[in-house]
Amino acid sequence: MLCRDALQGITPAGAAPAEIRGGHLMVPDSAIREFRQSLRGQLFCPDDSGYDAVRKIPNAMIDRRPAMIARCAGAADVITSVRFAREHELLVSVRGGGHSVAGKSVCDDGLMIDLSGMKGIRVDPIRRTVRAQAGLTLGEFDRETQAFGLSTTLGVVPTTGISGLTLGGGFGNLMAKYGLALDNLIGVDVVTADGQFFTANAEENQDLFWGVRGSSGNLGIVTSLEYRLHEVGPVLGGVVIYPVATTREVLHFCREFAQTLTDDVIIQGGAFTLPDGMAVFGVAACYCGSSLAEGERILQPLRRFGPPVADLIERRTYVQMQSFFEPFFPPGRHTYVKSNFLKSLDDAAIDTIAHWAGEAPSPDSFAPFFEHWHGAVHRVGATETAFPHRQHSWNLIAWSVWSDPADTEKNIRWTRNCWEAMTPFLVPGSYVNYVSDEGDAFAQAAYGPNYDRLALLKNKYDPTNFFRMNHNIKPTPVPTAA
Ligand SMILES: Cc1cc2nc3c(=O)[nH]c(=O)nc-3n(C[C@H](O)[C@H](O)[C@H](O)COP(=O)(O)OP(=O)(O)OC[C@H]3O[C@@H](n4cnc5c(N)ncnc54)[C@H](O)[C@@H]3O)c2cc1C
Repeated sequence: MLCRDALQGITPAGAAPAEIRGGHLMVPDSAIREFRQSLRGQLFCPDDSGYDAVRKIPNAMIDRRPAMIARCAGAADVITSVRFAREHELLVSVRGGGHSVAGKSVCDDGLMIDLSGMKGIRVDPIRRTVRAQAGLTLGEFDRETQAFGLSTTLGVVPTTGISGLTLGGGFGNLMAKYGLALDNLIGVDVVTADGQFFTANAEENQDLFWGVRGSSGNLGIVTSLEYRLHEVGPVLGGVVIYPVATTREVLHFCREFAQTLTDDVIIQGGAFTLPDGMAVFGVAACYCGSSLAEGERILQPLRRFGPPVADLIERRTYVQMQSFFEPFFPPGRHTYVKSNFLKSLDDAAIDTIAHWAGEAPSPDSFAPFFEHWHGAVHRVGATETAFPHRQHSWNLIAWSVWSDPADTEKNIRWTRNCWEAMTPFLVPGSYVNYVSDEGDAFAQAAYGPNYDRLALLKNKYDPTNFFRMNHNIKPTPVPTAA
């Protein structure tokens, strides 16, 4: 029999009476047995072998122990899991690729609905579309679509999950040309909080389709996603590395250089430490256009500026480019992130970034770090999808990473101090996929002007806030009769 402390305080209509002992709700063994047998995938309880491996996510800061983990094999398992959790009033978390820096995909005591075994993918090279199940990682997705010379915008670290990344936004190397990952969605399949299955696209359940694109898992569990694909051939990309002492000059250069960029180019950059201990500031670039000669011309000023410590920009297959940053993000390290868009990359902001560059206590950190947002992402209105941040050009991030748990306090303190110094230059809203656990107000600001409309959708699709292990959108309280 399973004992659970984390009551959700919801009593679904028609729920089977749960046994209550000593103030704790209990799930009877027989119900767990039946649940296990009803799944095509696997159920892991704390005594099952493999449980510890399955509950772990890449961020070592997160060490939570779900009472059960349903590793789903398909949409039917997701529906069964949602209904089981409702019936027994279990707290639910949903795991795609497990890369949420806030650790939202794993809960203590409740049911973790783990989609990471759902890896089906089918490319339609004629229509240039792909239908992908929610458990795929970016690397798996890119490998399949590139077999046809196609791809779409996803992030830059291949172990990240496609679903969490897409439902929150999706910044990546193709973004200036094709928009965010979520701008390339054609439709999704969703299991809502009452265990119903919906298809949402431009024709069906349009309100859900609008909300799914930016609400980061608040409205239901997306079981599969259909994307538009684009022809993507070899790219010109990599990173140019400068001594950290030149950060100020490099950022002034980047500000001017960014004005010259076509939609074929993305740049991002930040302070980090080379394996030999040298503190540096790197600027990564990726040109994805059709003429690599043109790419050479466009990227030349970046490669000439300096002189750099190293120039690692070269022709790569798109899959190689997408794997380029993987070695920098091994699983099992502690990660704490602060991020907001900059009002502008003005001189004072540059001075402050330069002041903090090279000062992070851990050599594994990328902080401060910028992403340059431009092109197609800006050509969609702030309320056209639930993702609101369409006008900002510079996303600033302090991505602190360390290995020894004894260093946690020091690294978090440094990150917060750095952010406090940056605050005068930041807008309140942040990209939801980079939000650590900073409380409700911070999460709310991430949805910006779309929050109220999303709350109405939450009322419709999840009125009991069943899905709340996320950067939460709260259903509005139902007015009581006088
Ligand atoms: C090393 C690293 C590199 C990154 N690089 C990039 C990048 O280049 N570009 C970028 O835009 N972002 C990037 N991110 C941020 C990334 O987009 C988010 O962490 C994203 O949430 C990861 O998705 P996931 O499926 O792996 O995570 P998860 O932790 O599994 O999920 C994240 C959130 O989404 C919910 N969720 C996941 N899947 C579903 C689903 N199918 N249905 C409903 N809800 C779901 C979860 O419950 C959770 O709340 C990076 C993160 C890391 C750690």
